[in-house]
Amino acid sequence: ADLLHIIGGGMAGSEAAWQAAQAGIDVVIHEMRPGTGTFAHQTDRLAEMVCSNSFRSDDDEQNAVGLLHWEMRAAGGLIMAMADSHRLPAGGALAVDREAFALAVTERLLAHPRIALERSEITSLPAAGHWIIATGPLTSDALGQAIRAETGTQALAFFDAIAPIVHADSVDLSKAWFQSRYDKGETEAERTAYLNCPMDRAQYEAFIDALLAADKTEFHEGETAGYFDGCLPIEVMAERGRETPRHGPMKPVGLTNPHAPDVKPHAVVQLRRDNALGTLYNIVGFQTKMKYGAQVDVFRMIPGLEGARFARLGGIHRNTFLNSPTLLDCELRLKPKPHIRFAGQITGVEGYVESAAMGLLAGRLAAAELTGRALPPVPPTTATGALVAHITGGAEAKTFQPMNVNFGLFPPVDGLKAGRRGRRDRYKAYTDRAKADWHAWLGHG
Ligand code: FAD
Repeated sequence: ADLLHIIGGGMAGSEAAWQAAQAGIDVVIHEMRPGTGTFAHQTDRLAEMVCSNSFRSDDDEQNAVGLLHWEMRAAGGLIMAMADSHRLPAGGALAVDREAFALAVTERLLAHPRIALERSEITSLPAAGHWIIATGPLTSDALGQAIRAETGTQALAFFDAIAPIVHADSVDLSKAWFQSRYDKGETEAERTAYLNCPMDRAQYEAFIDALLAADKTEFHEGETAGYFDGCLPIEVMAERGRETPRHGPMKPVGLTNPHAPDVKPHAVVQLRRDNALGTLYNIVGFQTKMKYGAQVDVFRMIPGLEGARFARLGGIHRNTFLNSPTLLDCELRLKPKPHIRFAGQITGVEGYVESAAMGLLAGRLAAAELTGRALPPVPPTTATGALVAHITGGAEAKTFQPMNVNFGLFPPVDGLKAGRRGRRDRYKAYTDRAKADWHAWLGHG
């Protein structure tokens, strides 16, 4: 009776199954491949890496992804253990032999006495029992529609159109300024809702030229089928007419530049606050299919963003994900149906590592619930905790887009004023605090 069902044997489902089984829970993984495939998966293996073979930076003192590696290792994570066993030389990054990695994860899970694997597609929302849905960015159509029927069409997206996100402390405030259009802003939060970057005519024309010339990526075959409902990339807008962005997201109206009050800007790029902490801002309307390198070059042409650091770059992809800030509680349970948890990319995190981390957390939380133990909330000072706090509460629900782990999600370290110490010291303070707090939390499990 106390069985845990996991739908999807990808990065998140595999780790969730491992964690729950290690905690003494019997688990069934329901994986639709190979009977039903996706446009990106090539094999029937669990934890298949669909694109790059990298788990990104392995630096657990200066990098938030590296810290997530560290936390998963400390928690006995299967994904990290198998990645470490099949590591390839790649400098500071953790790259793996993808074939050997996925095979090893599959074999370890199948060899576990508490884990069973059923090769079948689940097409409806389970009515009873204990479930984790970890069906990923390419969730099958039938299940996607079933989830949408429960959550409402606004709350489950089939695409993400991501505008680049900038670290607020890297914006040059001698050029940019805080102001909401038409000065709608009374409270502190309203006054800091938008940052504005002005352009004169020459800067605007040069920017449009760069947008048009930049290297772009193409959609995958089958990726747009039936779903793409028009969130125009900024460069496509520029292709439709050089003045189009200036009448759209870059319109210069309702704003006064305090650095030059008498000069009316030709265009204004707006950045909107992206998290409650106010450490991250997204560039409004700048979803794009430009390649990453090109984005950095083009967006640093914007006055005020010459030294911008990006928490994530823009993109448009097939991606099934929930509006987690409205739908999930802090334990990743679907609020109206708490017998169902979600994990992995479908919760609105982005990346192999982040997906596996949300699987690890969901597996542990489900196991604790099934054995009648109450776990304290994961500290938001840890990488795992910062990420889950962001998707289930910290992020703005209205503009929610998938997120990579980054230090902008962490609460500031006490007694360390930004800028007072160098960035290296700050990141080291974040990671030291995270490791201590993660250890303490694991002690409860
Ligand atoms: P997945 O690993 O996709 O696992 C979900 C599993 O659920 C799959 O095995 C699928 O077959 C199964 N499934 C789906 N529906 C059902 C159903 N109804 N019933 C039963 N089983 C079902 N991240 C990176 O870090 N680096 C990259 O290079 C990268 N490239 C990507 C490229 C593409 C094309 C896509 C779509 C995503 C990419 N990602 C990348 C993002 C993301 O991190 C990965 O997709 C990651 O695998 C997500 O983990 P997951 O466990 O949430 O989903």
